[in-house]
Amino acid sequence: MTTLSPQTATHLADASVLAVETQGLDRVYRRGQQKVHALDNVDLTIGAGQFVAIKGRSGSGKTTLLNCISGLDQPTAGVVRVFGDEIGAWSEGRRTTWRREQVGFIFQSLGLLPVLSAYENVELVLRLNGVGASERHKATLEALELVGLTKWNDHRPYELSGGQQQRVAIARALAGSPRLLIADEPTGNLDSKTAHSVLALFRAIVRERNATMLMATHDTLADDYVDRIINLSDGRIVGE
Ligand code: ADP
Ligand code: MG
Repeated sequence: MTTLSPQTATHLADASVLAVETQGLDRVYRRGQQKVHALDNVDLTIGAGQFVAIKGRSGSGKTTLLNCISGLDQPTAGVVRVFGDEIGAWSEGRRTTWRREQVGFIFQSLGLLPVLSAYENVELVLRLNGVGASERHKATLEALELVGLTKWNDHRPYELSGGQQQRVAIARALAGSPRLLIADEPTGNLDSKTAHSVLALFRAIVRERNATMLMATHDTLADDYVDRIINLSDGRIVGE
């Protein structure tokens, strides 16, 4: 673990801007003649700097909610504002650009490229975002150090344990210093000891980087690490 230099700890909490705000959020999927209300009138506010768990059974709408908040999907109706921007109303292209700059993703299926080392996997995202060579190098090393993988920089995914691979994926999500971190069932494939250490790492990252993090999970392990738990059932918020 490392303490970040002031230049990289860019997202000092601004209490006046909500990280996430949804109003009357609906997402309806059509399956043939049937309509599936994946999200049904969701009103939600999340302050900047919070670590929030979205919980609920499989099919309750967790992934759909994360996708609407991260700009991967567009609501059928309602408002989604992220750091004050009404991204739900934007075109796909505009959302894609915004997402690259503002959002770090961590999925259960890690999506690491097997032929690239840990270092190269992390650096690739910055390369795609057009970050210059020296800044890229610095940010990559810093992200890998933050997740405790410095010694493993040169290793390829198959030479790393499941927990270490998850750390590479976390470093990759962090490298661009996103304000918003989105994790969809990030501990789903991990044993409980590794899951605990990944959750502790998320918590530390949210604090150190002043990031806001939303994590879909049905893992009760997460409860002790988050600031807030939002429960979903059939696309509705059913309590905190
Ligand atoms: P969770 O992540 O909590 O398991 P999802 O958000 O993936 O739930 O799904 C919520 C509901 O929306 C489910 O009934 C699911 O089958 C449906 N759904 C999700 N994505 C699609 C899609 N692309 N097309 C049709 N139905 C979908
Ligand atoms: Mg899901």
